[in-house]
Amino acid sequence: MTENRDVWVFIEQTDGQIAEVSLELLAKAGELAEILESQVWGLLFGHHVDGLAEEIIHFGADRVLVADHPELAMYRTLPYCRIVVNLIEKHNPDIFLIGATPVGRDLAPRVASSAQVGLTADCTDLQIGDYQSRKEKKIYKDLLYQIRPAFGGNIIATIVNPQTKPQMATVREGVMQANRPDDTRKGEIERIEPAFEPGDFALKVLSRELRQPSVRLKDAPVIVAGGGGVDDPKDFQLIEELAHILGGEVGASRAAVDAGFVSREHQIGQTGATVRPRLYIAAGISGAIQHRSGMDDSNKIIAINTDPDAPIFQVAHYKIVGDLGEVLPLLIQALREKAR
Ligand code: FAD
Repeated sequence: MTENRDVWVFIEQTDGQIAEVSLELLAKAGELAEILESQVWGLLFGHHVDGLAEEIIHFGADRVLVADHPELAMYRTLPYCRIVVNLIEKHNPDIFLIGATPVGRDLAPRVASSAQVGLTADCTDLQIGDYQSRKEKKIYKDLLYQIRPAFGGNIIATIVNPQTKPQMATVREGVMQANRPDDTRKGEIERIEPAFEPGDFALKVLSRELRQPSVRLKDAPVIVAGGGGVDDPKDFQLIEELAHILGGEVGASRAAVDAGFVSREHQIGQTGATVRPRLYIAAGISGAIQHRSGMDDSNKIIAINTDPDAPIFQVAHYKIVGDLGEVLPLLIQALREKAR
């Protein structure tokens, strides 16, 4: 088995639609592979998915390994894990990245435990760097820095796995940005014949129900978010009304979710969604680090807060010091008049 420095990405797809996080990971894998002077490989499993391989190359893969088989039509832990582990044993990649989706969160620990390697879950950044082991008096070169909030979000931890390969990480959805597809990119496509064992099919999928998310924060061009400064459900209706007029989505800080104004699907931040809308309006949100980490890459941020020293103003482009109960009706009125 030869050691290589390739960076692998598990390409998650459902009914022929590639998960956005897989495309985001291809872009990040490209940055890492450039530093390592290696290649990006995409692992694509499913049935009738051949047509996706080119698309994966356009988004940044140099090589795509395709396992196309009726038994892979729907994700199941054991058959998918079997193929991944066999491929790891054969090719010995340096890094293996998986989106922290429900599928990724299921597959990654199973693969890590079968391949006997380390895994860092829910990373928010990845970099390449060296690590000096004082115990071993040794410097490990070019390790994957697996970066994620830890201890209740109070620190950002950088985790390394110097001993085992591949270095595995799941990565939160939306924290990285996909490349624009480049249809001039060329790469290799290799079809692999999966080798299963009878025990892999202990679980049969009889039917499947796909629940469409009722909140689409990630793609929303405008988000109007309310926080702990909203102390009445009526005021939260102002947030919803403004979002509706602007054709946007309703977001929330954890304080607003905990207060029961909206469901957890609306939460933005470290334990919620990461968003980058064209416009983000934060009303009555203090701007705690756990909230800002999910929205501070927004193109334009308007913050409304009674406290002129609220941390949200450090990332806001437009600052309104005032009571949201007064400011929001004025904004709504002005927009309604403009629309007439
Ligand atoms: P508050 O802290 O209550 O702030 C309310 C703000 O509104 C204040 O700045 C106040 O000046 C202002 N205000 C009050 N009245 C008005 C008014 N009438 N008009 C205008 N402004 C007014 N938080 C998240 O949001 N997302 C997360 O994903 C998240 N994950 C977390 C994970 C961990 C592990 C931990 C420990 C915490 C997490 N938090 C998260 C919680 C976070 O630390 C804060 O507690 C939370 O963001 C506070 O929400 P807030 O700013 O809306 O409310």
